[in-house]
Amino acid sequence: MSTAVAEFTGFGMNTVLKHSIYGKNAQAASAAVQGELARLENKLSRFVAGSEISRINRAAGKTLVQVSSEIYQVLLDAIRFCEVSQGLFDISIAPLVDLWNYQHAHHAPQQKKIKQALALIGYRDLVLKPDESTAGLRYAGQCIDLGGVGKGVAGDCCIGILRDYDIHAAYIDIGASVSVLGSKPNGSPWRVGIRHPRQEGQLLGVVDAVDKAVVTSGDYERYFVDKKGKRWHHILNPTTGYPAEAGLISVTVVADTAIKADALSTAIFVAGEERGLEYLSHFPGSDAVLMDDLQRVFVTQGLQASYKNAEGVMAHII
Ligand code: ADP
Ligand code: MG
Repeated sequence: MSTAVAEFTGFGMNTVLKHSIYGKNAQAASAAVQGELARLENKLSRFVAGSEISRINRAAGKTLVQVSSEIYQVLLDAIRFCEVSQGLFDISIAPLVDLWNYQHAHHAPQQKKIKQALALIGYRDLVLKPDESTAGLRYAGQCIDLGGVGKGVAGDCCIGILRDYDIHAAYIDIGASVSVLGSKPNGSPWRVGIRHPRQEGQLLGVVDAVDKAVVTSGDYERYFVDKKGKRWHHILNPTTGYPAEAGLISVTVVADTAIKADALSTAIFVAGEERGLEYLSHFPGSDAVLMDDLQRVFVTQGLQASYKNAEGVMAHII
C-alpha cells in the first residue's frame, strides 16, 4: 500500500506557503497546518489590527497589555536573539521598516527621518512581566515587528501539529523557511535547495535534512533599486538605519528549530561572517551556508556531509 500524501500550495503570512505531508492522517494534518498558519498570522502580525502584537504596539508608551502565554513565550524567545546579536537583530525594528517601505519606495529615506526612526529602536524597551504575563513598549512610537522570526515560529508550531497527527514525514515551506519532519517516506533525507542569490532559477546548493529547519535570508527577495542603480533590500542594520551591508548576500542557517534558523539567518546577514559565526557558536548543532558579495560560498563543518554544491559552485569549509 502506498503512503497517503497531502500536497498544498497557497498564500499567507505575506508569502508563498507549501507543504507535503505523508501518512495515514495526511489530509487532516494538512487542514490543521493551514489553520495553524492562519491562526498564527492573526496573533503575530503587526498588520492585523486585532493581533496581540498590534495591541502591544498601540499601547506603546502608555500601558502594558495582557498577552497569551504563547505570545509571551515567542517574545521571550525572540529577545534571546536580540541579546546574542547585541541588537543587530532587533524585533523593535518596525519604525525603520516602515520608513524604508520596500513595496513603494524608489529612493532611500532622508537622513533626518532615519535618525528619528533609529531613536525609537531598542529591544530593551520591551518590558515583559512574567508574573502577570504582560508586555509593553516604554515609549510612544515604538513598534514590534516579528518579520525576522515569525515564519520560524510558524514552522515550529506546524511541526508540533504534525506530531500530534502522528505524521512522521513532512516538508513545510513558509516562504523559503523550510522545516522538515523525519525523512522522506522512502527513508532518505529531505533535500532542501538553496536559491542562488544572483542567478534566477538556479540553486546554490542542496542540504540533506532530517528533523531540521533550513532558512535563508537574502538581499534578493524584497528590495528596490534607486535611480543610481543601487539595490536597497529589506534586512536593516539597527545601528546605521540602512540596509545591512556586512559583505553577505545570502545566509542559510540549518538548525533543530525554525525560530533559531530564521532569527539567526537574519542576524548573521546583518552582522557579517565573522560575528555571525560567533552567534552560531551559542547554538550547538546549528550550521550555515554563506555567500559573500564576491560570490564565494562558505559552509560550516557540521554540514560537510549533508551539503552539496550545485554544479559550477565551489564552497569553502570553515
Ligand atoms: P524574509 O522575511 O524575507 O524571509 P528575514 O527572515 O531575514 O527575511 O526577515 C526580514 C524581515 O525581518 C524584514 O522584512 C523585517 O520585517 C524584519 N527585519 C529587518 N531587519 C531586521 C533586524 N535587523 N532585526 C530583526 N528583524 C528585522
Ligand atoms: Mg529571519
